[in-house]
Amino acid sequence: MVADRLRIAAGATVFAEGDPPTTAFLIESGRVRVGTHQFGEERVLGELGAGALLGEMAVIDDSPRSATATAIEDCILTPIDRHQFAERLEVADPIVRALLLSQVSRYRSALATLTGDGESGSVAPRPSGEADAFDKIRLESELRGALERAELQVFLQPLFDLTLERVAGYEALVRWHHPERGAVSPAEFIRLAEETSLIVPVGEYVLARVCDMLAELRRRGREPLPFIALNVSARQIEDESLVDRMLARLAAHDLPPDRLEVEITESLVLDSPRVAALIGRCHAAGMHVALDDFGTGYSNLAPLLKLDVDRIKLDQAFVRALDTPRGAALAAAIVGMAHALDCEVVAEGVETVEQRESLRTMGCRYAQGWLIGRPTSLDDVLASG
Ligand code: C2E
Ligand code: MG
Ligand code: MG
Repeated sequence: MVADRLRIAAGATVFAEGDPPTTAFLIESGRVRVGTHQFGEERVLGELGAGALLGEMAVIDDSPRSATATAIEDCILTPIDRHQFAERLEVADPIVRALLLSQVSRYRSALATLTGDGESGSVAPRPSGEADAFDKIRLESELRGALERAELQVFLQPLFDLTLERVAGYEALVRWHHPERGAVSPAEFIRLAEETSLIVPVGEYVLARVCDMLAELRRRGREPLPFIALNVSARQIEDESLVDRMLARLAAHDLPPDRLEVEITESLVLDSPRVAALIGRCHAAGMHVALDDFGTGYSNLAPLLKLDVDRIKLDQAFVRALDTPRGAALAAAIVGMAHALDCEVVAEGVETVEQRESLRTMGCRYAQGWLIGRPTSLDDVLASG
């Protein structure tokens, strides 16, 4: 048990160089001098007063104390158990953790040089998880570059209308062909882009390409003009001008707004007032909105009380389970519910004829998946008629 508060009398040692790092301290009152020994002489590194953290460094990197802390006034300290930090560090962003540990290790090296104690400081251990963090930061820089060099590609995957027996539209899916890593899955780099603000320029890029593609489809005489659905991430809808920018891009090509559809994912609908506002703006402009990956993740039905979506995309997981009685019952129930809400259903990940037919029997209007077509370039879409 760690005491709530410690009283330390002036002159007493809080911890000594070489001690194990059990706790850090928050100085509530009084002053503490931090120093180290060099050739038998004390060297003062600094003085800390009320409000400062003391001894946190050894706790962060789990190394013995590299300095001695002595109270120079009567002090009151709140001890902070090392696990309190360790737990937070474990859940912190790996890049933030790597930055912090790298700073601590640099400080230790500087300290070792200062005290002539080269051995303990110069070979600071590499923090675990650092390589992953650096990989991620490298990937992020490369993604920035790829975006500038327009190396991202936008593929189209058909959405098949099971009633009219024709392709009604496409979903735009971004692709990144990395010069060394090969094809990087959007599942990987979109998540990375979402963690930073990079998703905003990535989204702009995809939007611009989608509008170019719609214009090209029209120029090549595709009649009726199919719609293209665009995936939109949480960060993108923080920007209230998103819909206006979509409309401006469409207008620049003289395209009708109802040919652009917005796909929002379930994780995003947690922020329902913002999403409701987005849906309202889309509808006012004539654009449709689909709820992606329905039935998975953060799924609960509450958002459907407030969010007036036009389409529900039944997640692949349900389509895969169609050959089981429970899977089929759930899919049919979702289709029924969607119809009661005046929504159409798109089944995702349809890979077999049996799945397609079972969905058709249930009254599911659209199917998307490898059975109908894999995501391909616009050129391939145009070539296949
Ligand atoms: P999503 O929107 O749910 O897209 C459907 C994913 O299922 C796509 O993966 C698609 O290639 C894959 N898929 C389609 N048919 C089948 C099938 O029959 N079987 C199987 N096993 N998979 C199928 P992809 O292209 O890897 O995209 C993954 C996710 O990345 C997307 O999931 C979407 O959430 C996100 N994403 C893709 N492009 C963008 C984008 O431009 N912007 C944003 N914000 N997110 C994007
Ligand atoms: Mg989608
Ligand atoms: Mg989906």
